[in-house]
Amino acid sequence: MSTYDYDLFVIGGGSGGVRAARVAAGETGARVALAEEDRYGGTCVIRGCVPKKLMVFASEFASMPSLANGYGWDIEAGSFDWPTFRGHLNTELDRLEGIYRSLLKNSGVETFDARARLKDAHTVELSTGETKTAKTILIASGGHPVRPDMPNADLGIVSDDIFHLENLPKSILIVGGGYIACEFACIFHGLGVEVTQYYRGAQILRGFDDEARGLIAEAMLERGIKLHLGTNIVEMAPADADHNLSGSTASDAAMGADASMMGALSAAAKGDRSGPIWVKPTSGKPRAFDVVLFATGRDPNSSDLGLEDLGIEVGRRGEIVVDEFSKTACDSVYAIGDVTNRVNLTPVAIREGMAFVETVFKDNPTAVDHDLIPSAIFTQPEMGTVGLSEEAARDREPIDVYCTSFRPMQTAFAGKPDRVLMKLVVSVATRKVLGCHIVAPNAGEMIQLAGIAIKMGATKEDFDRTVAVHPTMSEEIVTMKTPMRTA
Ligand code: NDP
Repeated sequence: MSTYDYDLFVIGGGSGGVRAARVAAGETGARVALAEEDRYGGTCVIRGCVPKKLMVFASEFASMPSLANGYGWDIEAGSFDWPTFRGHLNTELDRLEGIYRSLLKNSGVETFDARARLKDAHTVELSTGETKTAKTILIASGGHPVRPDMPNADLGIVSDDIFHLENLPKSILIVGGGYIACEFACIFHGLGVEVTQYYRGAQILRGFDDEARGLIAEAMLERGIKLHLGTNIVEMAPADADHNLSGSTASDAAMGADASMMGALSAAAKGDRSGPIWVKPTSGKPRAFDVVLFATGRDPNSSDLGLEDLGIEVGRRGEIVVDEFSKTACDSVYAIGDVTNRVNLTPVAIREGMAFVETVFKDNPTAVDHDLIPSAIFTQPEMGTVGLSEEAARDREPIDVYCTSFRPMQTAFAGKPDRVLMKLVVSVATRKVLGCHIVAPNAGEMIQLAGIAIKMGATKEDFDRTVAVHPTMSEEIVTMKTPMRTA
């Protein structure tokens, strides 16, 4: 009989932690406890993937009336009511959090609504003052969005704050060019907000296939998002008499300022810190925005967990360093998910949690497979991607690139300029498909299926042997006969 309170103590009730806890308890009979200081469900359910995707759905209705008009429907665009949507969203998130709690309860996991930190290799201290011991401790504490290190950065919001906005702003500046920046640029634009995006690099979505990210940038500009590449914030401040659009006094500014700046001045005059924000970019004139959103990356939640005293190694961004079985430098402590900063995606954290349970509780050492992970970026249009970009593949070996870009039937019929992209990157030597990149409505749904074939090691000829589903956009993925180029 174990002398510990539990076989497993999990720190963090997000996707990875909850899955590991309930599988360990439910399938192996382990005595499991879990501590969560915030809401159950973590980033994905409460302030990430789920509310974001619901906002994507909400924003996509904006383009539907004009599409319907092209098909003969007499429909007028209505207006979007943020408080109504947010009310429905909160109800849904409450429901999902309830499901997460009951999944744990029904699996026999004991939960603590408290912050936990490691006291020693087998003991956690809870913010309630209790201490609990466990044979194994699993850290699944996730990550958090970070602001750039600059004066007044706290005037900007981060992705966690979006779902709590009282009102939709009239104008927003989004800083960053990654997943979160691009997805929310499209979402806010669809909801009727005037969106400006600053990205410091030459093209958004660094690391993804050049052609695919180029097409998304084009589509975002075409839709009216003011995307400024090679641009960053130099300075920001509450809009006031010293920080106005004319760069001089308040009365000078009032003579030339636009409507939002006039609002800024009056808000600032009333001492309202939630008023518009004055921003000086690296190029161009200062501007005022109702909201500035920093989508400038996320860091692991590893501080104040007591790691140092146990000799657990932490990397440059605060990530807990683990081996292929998710074990830290301390034999009884494991870590999974965003806190390890490997591949920061919900399904990957879940896989890491399952592999941990196999390894520690089922006597079946299972390394996590991080190869060929399909993923989607929910921009409008979406990107679905798996495997190597053309650029990464050609650095490794000679490749054939099969690619087509066209106006899809549904929107072309209504006279819309939207384009889609289907692309396969193929090894010349083995004919294996090394990468597949799709930019199209519902590309996330398509790439899940393409991902199975590519994970199985499908060759271009396997794709060719597959009969097309007609008429669809994705049929192009099996009908591209001649390489566009060899590299
Ligand atoms: P990313 O790391 O993807 O992007 C951060 C962006 O901010 C980059 O464009 C980066 O520029 C820029 N940046 C960083 N620091 C600064 C700075 N000081 N000033 C200006 N710009 C800066 O982070 P995200 O926050 O977008 O997303 C975090 C993670 O969450 C993703 O990597 C992904 O794993 C996950 N995620 C997944 C989603 C999905 O699957 N659909 C959706 C949302 C998030 P540069 O490129 O030059 O470094």
